[in-house]
Amino acid sequence: MSAGPRIGVLALQGAYREHRQRLEALGAQVTEVRLPGDLAGLRGLILPGGESTTMARLMTEYRLWGPVRDFHAAGGHLWGTCAGAILLAREVQGAPPQFGHQDSLALLDVTVQRNAFGRQIDSFTTEVRVSGLDAPLPAVFIRAPAFARTGEGVERLCSYEGQTVAVRQGTILATAFHPELTGDLRLHELFVNELREPVAS
Ligand code: GLN
Repeated sequence: MSAGPRIGVLALQGAYREHRQRLEALGAQVTEVRLPGDLAGLRGLILPGGESTTMARLMTEYRLWGPVRDFHAAGGHLWGTCAGAILLAREVQGAPPQFGHQDSLALLDVTVQRNAFGRQIDSFTTEVRVSGLDAPLPAVFIRAPAFARTGEGVERLCSYEGQTVAVRQGTILATAFHPELTGDLRLHELFVNELREPVAS
C-alpha cells in the first residue's frame, strides 16, 4: 500500500492532537503546522477547534495568513472545525467587543456567528445527519458557531436545530462541531480520501 497523503494540522492552539491521531489512524502522514514553511508538500490542512481569537492572534504573530491563502489558491484543501471554521469565514459575527472586528482568512463565503448555541456550559453531544454520510454522525458542540449566511457557491451539508453547522465550498470543508472528539472517523475519512493520489487504472 502506498503512503497516505501528507496532511497538515494547524498546531497553534486547541484540539490539534486529536485531529492528528484521527488522520494517522486513517494512514495519512501528518505535519503540525506552526510556521509558513511547514505548509510545503501538504495536500490538505485542518484548522482545529479552540479559541478563534487566540488563533487569529497567533496567525498574525507567525505570519500565516498569506501563506494559508496561497496554499488554498495553489489547490490545497482546507477543513476548519469550530474555531477553525471561524478562521475560514468571510465574515465573523460576535467577536469580543474589545476586538470589534475579528480577522479571518475570508476564503469561505459565509457569515459565521460565534457561540450560536450558548456559552461553555451549553456544550453538548448529539447526532447529526451530514449529506454524503449514510448514517447519523456523533458530533460534539463546544461553544459552537453556526453559519448564519451561506453564499451562492456554498453547499449546506448539515443543519441542527434550524442552524447550518457544516458546509462545503469547492476544496473547503467547514464544520461547527468537533468530529475529532468522537470515535467516528467518517468525516476524516472523507477528507483523507479526497487527498489520496488517484489510483492508476
Ligand atoms: N467559541 C469558540 C471561538 O469562537 C470556538 C469554540 C471551539 O472551537 N470549540 O473561537
